[in-house]
Amino acid sequence: MPNRPASLDRALVWFRRDLRADDHAALHAACRAARRVHAVFVFDTDILDPLPRADRRVEFIRDSLMDLDGQLQAFGLSHGVEGVRLIVRHGRATMEVARLAAALGAQAVYAAHDDEPAALARDAQVRGRLAEAGCMLHTVKDHVVFERAEVMTATGTPYSVFTPYKNAWLKKADEFYLRAWPVARHAASLAPWPPAVGEPGVPTLAELGFQTTDLHQHRLPTGSTGAQELLADFLDRIDRYAEAREFPAVKGPSYLGTHLRFGTVSIRRLAREAWQRMQAGSKGAETWLSELIWRDFYHQILHHHPRVVGHAFKPEYDAIRWEHGKHADAWFEAWCQGRTGYPLVDAAMLQLLHTGYMHNRLRMVTASFLVKDLGIDWRRGEAWFALHLNDFDLAANNGGWQWAASTGCDAQPYFRIFNPVSQSERFDPEGRFIKRYLPQLAGLQRPAIHAPWRAKPMELAAAGLQLGRDYPEPVVDHDDARRRTLERFAVARQK
Ligand SMILES: Cc1cc2nc3c(=O)[nH]c(=O)nc-3n(C[C@H](O)[C@H](O)[C@H](O)COP(=O)(O)OP(=O)(O)OC[C@H]3O[C@@H](n4cnc5c(N)ncnc54)[C@H](O)[C@@H]3O)c2cc1C
Repeated sequence: MPNRPASLDRALVWFRRDLRADDHAALHAACRAARRVHAVFVFDTDILDPLPRADRRVEFIRDSLMDLDGQLQAFGLSHGVEGVRLIVRHGRATMEVARLAAALGAQAVYAAHDDEPAALARDAQVRGRLAEAGCMLHTVKDHVVFERAEVMTATGTPYSVFTPYKNAWLKKADEFYLRAWPVARHAASLAPWPPAVGEPGVPTLAELGFQTTDLHQHRLPTGSTGAQELLADFLDRIDRYAEAREFPAVKGPSYLGTHLRFGTVSIRRLAREAWQRMQAGSKGAETWLSELIWRDFYHQILHHHPRVVGHAFKPEYDAIRWEHGKHADAWFEAWCQGRTGYPLVDAAMLQLLHTGYMHNRLRMVTASFLVKDLGIDWRRGEAWFALHLNDFDLAANNGGWQWAASTGCDAQPYFRIFNPVSQSERFDPEGRFIKRYLPQLAGLQRPAIHAPWRAKPMELAAAGLQLGRDYPEPVVDHDDARRRTLERFAVARQK
């Protein structure tokens, strides 16, 4: 493709949840449009201020920026441009971006679409501020393969059921949509920075007001380099994904969620890898591609139905009366801290607290337990996950919670209630996962490991376990809870 002459003198690329230099739609667009291109990331105090002072995600971002800075430098050097650096600001993004664009004399700012309601409001403010100074904000698709209204039904309405959406997605996807944006080819436009000595680089966590976390103990490598490592490891076992992904004690999934969340890997790259292997007959790749399509699906749901933030997708379920008061608060606390007395649920909640990750099967089990065993409003669980998941993504988290709570589009029917004991017997048969997070249960064998309250006194004694002292009695009886849930949902459905 012949190079178009650049029409702008200077542009600024604003990195947000796309922390890589390669296959980057906004950086590619800016490098083609402008003769000199700068790059900025803003540690946005509107987002950071409410967070706890030790947050693995802040550390993930901070370390990934070091990697991004290195990639930008390398891209510049490959075109003979020295001193290309990532500019980093710490303040309100709504102010900082316009201020920097003005200081640089940029005529345009480029960024990737972000369809979360808060991000759209922020971008509208930035767009307005930039416009006052005669500067344009251009945003482009980068975060998903198909966004917004790109995959619609034959009658032009958005899909709300996954399987037909997936079929339409697969029909539309081809090499054109999955191709990479070749930034390296146009990187001669990257401009040196800093103009003056003393310009700070990527700040330390302490400078940002945060503490170092245990992120690196959990084998979550950061930046594009980390994403490539995880991807290479996963591609060696992708063919076994369809079966292995169900068992939390097994290394089955890709563990790329946090990289997808922060864009340290391109979704097009991942979808392409899966697509090509699927064409070659890999069942595992086909299943994994389907998961990536769920991600697109929930993003388009959020775009078309932003009311899902805080409300049931099916409005009749907003009438449900959830448990509230002291007993509900105590149950919620037991769920959060992994003290419900149901080993698989507790081990999963401890995995989340200790690592910031939770296996997909366990997200379904724990979400179902909160809503359908404890009768607690799904929004409380959604908020807890949002605080603790390294890969927290508003669209996917909301979609996952509404699926488990039966309030969402294409959700599990309300009368399908996971039995936490049978889920445990089926997906962690030997209790290997449970014992990893609940070492006090290490002496129990199956079936007691799945339901310690059913163990004989001799079994408990042999395992050195006293219920109520070493491990809690179950907070609720599953069969009673099931009955209450059916009543609760039936009332809502009558309304
Ligand atoms: C209650 C609940 C909450 C969830 N919250 C989130 C969340 O905040 N962020 C998030 O990315 N995913 C969420 N998921 C979906 C899924 O559990 C995670 O994406 C997955 O466990 C991440 O691990 P992985 O990268 O190893 O997954 P893999 O199995 O390797 O999947 C690859 C990628 O596909 C995407 N994906 C997989 N499953 C889903 C799905 N059901 N919906 C949307 N995207 C999917 C993710 O981007 C994931 O990284 C949630 C699911 C449930 C049931």
